[in-house]
Amino acid sequence: MYTGECIFCRIASGKAGTQLLYEDEDAVAFKDINPQAPFHILVIPKKHFENLKAVDDERLMGHLFTVASSVARELGISDFRTVINTGPKSGQTVYHLHIHLLGGRYMMWPPG
Ligand code: 5GP
Ligand code: ZN
Repeated sequence: MYTGECIFCRIASGKAGTQLLYEDEDAVAFKDINPQAPFHILVIPKKHFENLKAVDDERLMGHLFTVASSVARELGISDFRTVINTGPKSGQTVYHLHIHLLGGRYMMWPPG
């Protein structure tokens, strides 16, 4: 079990005081502190995985995307983008797996 300092572990356990938009046994969702769209939510597993390369749980990955979709539905976001940055070149800055759920504006493609 991961025991080090990780901001997302602290958020998932309630220790950081971040308001959770969603919580179940395995996952939480909360607003990104530096939103890049009118809606910018992060969906994370409670269990610490460094990133997508480190995950060995297919059921959990499916669950995280299901949570992202249901949070979007709850918030009335019909069109959205889900993003997982993996590694420094992708822009990953927090090394606890997370799905970005972005919506509320038009998105560019390809991404930057
Ligand atoms: P990454 O760059 O790793 O894909 O995404 C990390 C995201 O976490 C960034 O969008 C950043 O704004 C967000 N973030 C970093 N620290 C915190 C925090 O303490 N609270 C919240 N709510 N979001 C955070
Ligand atoms: Zn963590």
